[in-house]
Amino acid sequence: SGEIKLAVHPRLISAFETSAEPHPYDDAIDIAVIGGNGTICGSNSRSVLIAVYRYLQELGCRFLFPGRAGELFPTELDLASTSVVVRERPRYRHRGVCIEGANSIEGLIDAIDFLPKQGMNSYFIQFQEAYTFFKRWYRHEGHPHAASKEEFTVDEARRYTALAVKEIARRGLIYHAVGHGWTCEPLGIPGYEWHPWKGEIAPEVAEQLAEIDGRRELFHGVPLNTSLCYSRPDTRRLMVTYMSDYVERHPDIDILHVWLADGSNNQCECENCRPRRPADWYVMLLNEIDAEFCERGIDIKVCFIIYSDLLWPPLEGEIRNPERFVMMFAPISRTYREPFYSDRYEAPPEYYRNQNEMPRSVAANLGFYRAWDEVGRGDSLIFDYHYMWAHYRDIGGVRIATILGEDINNLDSLNFNGYMSCQVQRAMAPNAMGFTVMARTLWGETDTAAIINAYFADLYGAEAAMILRNLQTLSDLSHELNFEDVPEMKESATEKVWLCKEIEKLIEGMLRQIDFSSVSKLPLGGRILEVHLKIWHGLATALRLLISGDSESAETVFEDTLLYMWQRESDVMFALDCFNFNRTIRSLFQEIKATIETTV
Ligand SMILES: [Zn+2]
Repeated sequence: SGEIKLAVHPRLISAFETSAEPHPYDDAIDIAVIGGNGTICGSNSRSVLIAVYRYLQELGCRFLFPGRAGELFPTELDLASTSVVVRERPRYRHRGVCIEGANSIEGLIDAIDFLPKQGMNSYFIQFQEAYTFFKRWYRHEGHPHAASKEEFTVDEARRYTALAVKEIARRGLIYHAVGHGWTCEPLGIPGYEWHPWKGEIAPEVAEQLAEIDGRRELFHGVPLNTSLCYSRPDTRRLMVTYMSDYVERHPDIDILHVWLADGSNNQCECENCRPRRPADWYVMLLNEIDAEFCERGIDIKVCFIIYSDLLWPPLEGEIRNPERFVMMFAPISRTYREPFYSDRYEAPPEYYRNQNEMPRSVAANLGFYRAWDEVGRGDSLIFDYHYMWAHYRDIGGVRIATILGEDINNLDSLNFNGYMSCQVQRAMAPNAMGFTVMARTLWGETDTAAIINAYFADLYGAEAAMILRNLQTLSDLSHELNFEDVPEMKESATEKVWLCKEIEKLIEGMLRQIDFSSVSKLPLGGRILEVHLKIWHGLATALRLLISGDSESAETVFEDTLLYMWQRESDVMFALDCFNFNRTIRSLFQEIKATIETTV
């Protein structure tokens, strides 16, 4: 009988290089188990857990989807004849996922549990209580026939968030917290979700809101999207005090995200705010937070975000204590049709208060990033959205996974020390190749095609090559279809109709050829593939009818297809966020319809 010892060795990291004190976020693993005897070490307790899962994978265990039903174990295993020796540290420090979409607490815990199994090390719960993400699930938002839409309270969200935080802590994961909301809650206005709020706003609160077109009120009624009058020292003081009190009450937080209002072109136009860019006021606020945290002996890190109006770098002032901060770049308006790398940078355009266009091209985005890079900083990561919406525009899923792999491979040449994926947690239709590429590439594998091939072989066995070939073709066809460019649907209608027909034909062939009950080694692998293909067959048909001018039939097929999706929800909910898919696809179709029906 064998014995495997588990151990934490902080010096593991320095053993790899000459650096002195290991950074608490850095992982390293050292597995030496021969014939079932030996040690599994990590540079911290999280690393030990990552190392144990790695050991299991070396023995043939597979974690193909979150949750028990997504796991495969070898049927026969003679430990005495195995030998596992692995000594590695990941390529990037920050390897995390951020909550989005609609979430049950069980699904969320599965998502957290999946992270160390994949070598990931961080989880980000947005807002103070993640209310909106739970509410979407528990109130069945978007579901046409949910039997009851029971109440969901903020207290319940707080309880679930506390449970999730406990699961994060159990695994020693790095806990990122909050982000938006600091522009609402300190003023006594709830900032739980991106919805309008109808409550009373006292005059002394209203005067702290951004002045736009001469009025100080909620931006389109939505507190989360409402900027404040950041030039007011008392307003900044209120935010700083609120945040400091908050982190003192929440000692589990490792990295506190301090973001301003969401949205863009919503900045204060008053005579005091106007002379400086939003980023100037932002840097001033960040320095004041650092000063207060130092004063109170709070030693957590603060993450600041560069996106939207804050893309335009500050003209004056700098981050005074870079050690305190993690810089995060979030290219939310970028294209996902090409990798996020270019040796070409475009200098940022002039900043025009509340009249800016957000950059789409890679070169333009990188120009902003480079301008900020000169402001001075310590640690950094990218916050990106491959599996928030972009994956719905790639029916086969192979292209977006490949773009993600290339993007992560390029991060270090852009000076980023990691990736936080702002994504729906259940973004695994037709399968979890994207998540696998993300985790493996962040750890250090560089060959995206090899990662995808291995994942397909694990999931589909003998059918792997056939399924990959077909999904690759579906990816190529949807790339040509180009959901990023809606006007093109009308301008190149003949070609688009042809592409829809090709997609329909290809899927029909797959539906005939594949036995979904046996195609995957996991029953759920077959189910999600089948439902995914049927949904996209329906949507391709609906789109073809729409572009051909038969919007009435298009609408019928479209609604029937989404109804089919909801009927199959319980079969595929581990992999498909029906709330987010419904919302994203519905608005895309509305947009295409409006474009098609516009007479020139
Ligand atoms: Zn102002």
